[in-house]
Amino acid sequence: MTTKRGFTTTLLHSDRLQKPEHGALHKPIHTSVTFGYDDVQDLVDVFQNKTSGYAYSRQGSPTVNALEYKVTQMEKGFASVCFATGMAGIASTILALIKQGDHIVASSYLFGNTRSVFQSYMDMGLDVTFVDATDVANVESALKPNTRMVFVETIANPATQIADLEAIGKLCEQKRILYMVDNTMTTPYLFNPADVKASLVANSLTKNIGGHGNALGGCITDTGLFDWGSYPNIYDVYKKGDVKKWGITQIRKKGLRDAGGTMAPEAAHYISIGAETLALRMDRSTANAMALATYFEAHPNIKKVFYPGLENHSQHNRAKKLFKGFGTLLSIELVESMDCFAFLNALQLVVKSSNLGDTRTLSIPVAHTIFNELGKEKRAEMGISDNMIRLSIGIEDKDDLIADFAAALG
Ligand SMILES: *Cc1c(COP(=O)(O)O)cnc(C)c1O
Repeated sequence: MTTKRGFTTTLLHSDRLQKPEHGALHKPIHTSVTFGYDDVQDLVDVFQNKTSGYAYSRQGSPTVNALEYKVTQMEKGFASVCFATGMAGIASTILALIKQGDHIVASSYLFGNTRSVFQSYMDMGLDVTFVDATDVANVESALKPNTRMVFVETIANPATQIADLEAIGKLCEQKRILYMVDNTMTTPYLFNPADVKASLVANSLTKNIGGHGNALGGCITDTGLFDWGSYPNIYDVYKKGDVKKWGITQIRKKGLRDAGGTMAPEAAHYISIGAETLALRMDRSTANAMALATYFEAHPNIKKVFYPGLENHSQHNRAKKLFKGFGTLLSIELVESMDCFAFLNALQLVVKSSNLGDTRTLSIPVAHTIFNELGKEKRAEMGISDNMIRLSIGIEDKDDLIADFAAALG
């Protein structure tokens, strides 16, 4: 960013100030798969990373590039690479940066599909230790001489545990370990992992950033804080030029280009438009979430409320210190006498659906769906009961949401 403008101003004017053709205010949707050059030397220079430009859009296109620039600005980062989905970003980045013999420490409270990806890599021989990352001591005692990465989420889904983000950042900096933070649940509007020394930030753009449930996308941002010169897994071909670029180049080449989880230009356009109102939507939906959490806490048919905004949440003070707001993820556990399916079916407004970070409020029974593959025993270990419901709070009028829940709770 050249000037220090506010979050929303920066997003709204990002495309225009890059001067797209015809004075367009939005970066146009460039659908061309390949790009032609009059002089073959120019094509060769793009291939060899000597100039920036486009060759084949699996590894980059102008519309997606404009979105990457926006995410970089939102995250106060150095550079970003977009992917077809959040999962493509996470899976491809690990593929790009980790080698046989490496060890990763990951939070045991992970998005289910991220956990599943780690399991696949473990089945191929990667050593991963899962720890309760709400306390840095657990991360530190799991470290090994070959630990290359610590991976955590900001607010975990569905039980809203908050990793010891700041202390883990200091630990990773001191030990020169890659620190990768999935910022999806907070979004760069509520929190920048760069502020706690994260090396890499993952965002599912499908969720609050795109925000309207109409496009899939993911993004990996290099914060510029990690010294890639000391990282043993950079291939010689990418050890060229500015050392700050080595990591993101390897993610683009070995992650995006080789695994091919490329974002479509149409999706980049939808997500860019959605992101323009991220701040407005987050202010509204986090206020709705706080109001609902307070309402649920006082309701006799609700046994437990999981929301970092509540003072009795185990990491409430951490959330208050680090985040601009407490997020849109809110889980509840009904009392045993309430039937979870009957309650959900009684909701008229709240949609029964997976996904998170939509403009609409969504609800899902956790044990039967997103954590079903885990089995009853593992769920019990994680404190997930059969009566737990995950909510993603939207931007509806607050009183309508409360009325809908009130009616269903009886
Ligand atoms: C949804 C989600 C992902 C995956 O994103 P997709 O775009 O659905 O692939 C990763 N991490 C978290 C925390 C998520 O909520």
